[in-house]
Amino acid sequence: MTLLACQHDAYRRSMTAAILDVLPVDGGVEVILADTVLYPEGGGQPDDHGTLDGQPVLGLRKTDRGVAHRIAARPEGESAEVVLDWTRRLDHMQQHTAQHLISAIAADRFSADTTAFHLRDGLCDIDLSRSLSRAEADALQAAVNAEIRAARAVGAVEVAAADLDDVRCRKLPDGLTGPVRLVEIDGIDRNTCGGTHVASTAELQAVVLLPPLSHKGGCKLRYLAGGRVTDGLSAAHDRETTLSRALSCGSDQHAEAIKRMQAEGKAAARVQKALQMELSGLLGGELARSEQAHLHRDDADLGFLRGVAAAAAQRAPGRLFVLTGGTDGGAGVFMLIGPAEAVAALGPEVAMAVTGRGGGAKGRYQGKAQALDLAAVSALV
Ligand SMILES: [Zn+2]
Repeated sequence: MTLLACQHDAYRRSMTAAILDVLPVDGGVEVILADTVLYPEGGGQPDDHGTLDGQPVLGLRKTDRGVAHRIAARPEGESAEVVLDWTRRLDHMQQHTAQHLISAIAADRFSADTTAFHLRDGLCDIDLSRSLSRAEADALQAAVNAEIRAARAVGAVEVAAADLDDVRCRKLPDGLTGPVRLVEIDGIDRNTCGGTHVASTAELQAVVLLPPLSHKGGCKLRYLAGGRVTDGLSAAHDRETTLSRALSCGSDQHAEAIKRMQAEGKAAARVQKALQMELSGLLGGELARSEQAHLHRDDADLGFLRGVAAAAAQRAPGRLFVLTGGTDGGAGVFMLIGPAEAVAALGPEVAMAVTGRGGGAKGRYQGKAQALDLAAVSALV
């Protein structure tokens, strides 16, 4: 296993490396460098971002000869300067090293083995082989942060495969032949890993574990480490302040204020529905007593029109009524009620006049309009 500069020294931010080859690819070239400070994706850690001779590196790929750096234009010269996006890398080193620490303590103290790890934007997560209660997760969080305060050294060593029998290590791939890179958190953990890590657990700053989620017979443990904790807390405070202003109360009263608003909303909806039913009944009665056969309201939906239609038909059985709701020239709804034959004949004509589609049976026909044309509807009735 040949280690890259980024694995020898995770804190190295730039280097000049010999160009071994330049290969044309879609939209640019791949520059093969023998060595690099940019970590290609691997072991759950995403690839680094950075520049090659000032050009943004668009992708990284391991090859037999070195690491291919995809950029837009062919570089000049026989060597290139590679510069690392350190902010992104430090974040990845913090999240990744935090995973080592969380996994080690979860295994040792809670017999929960790590089965998967995802370093994502936002929250990272670790899949554990058994579920953890909220109290256990809190205890795990406390233990992890105690080891952060202890500022334990984190380092990597290469061990020949033949010597591995003498090394206490958490996990080893089968069929190893070459030297193996072991990452060690002093006194806590020793594990095979090719990724980049902080030099001390102190650089993790803090780890926050969110309540575990049930997952595949075990649990999914979501967490934040390092700068994501401070950034996340600042963002949460900003959201809280926005909510406090909107709700006109302190954050300790947010939940109560929202529950009260939801209850008030439900009560208002019940009152509105009752009033609409009453109004539709009154309008239907008025329509039945009048000479007119077409009634329109801008704010009526199909439910409201059904109420009007039922009231009108009850008071004037045998008459045909056409009801419309919506904005003249815009989208809306329509409904016909009356003698079955008359409704069946006129329904499709009304639908055509309002650029809509409808259907029905037994003296009722209703549908949605794409472009209400109230003059055309009135002309039909
Ligand atoms: Zn690692």
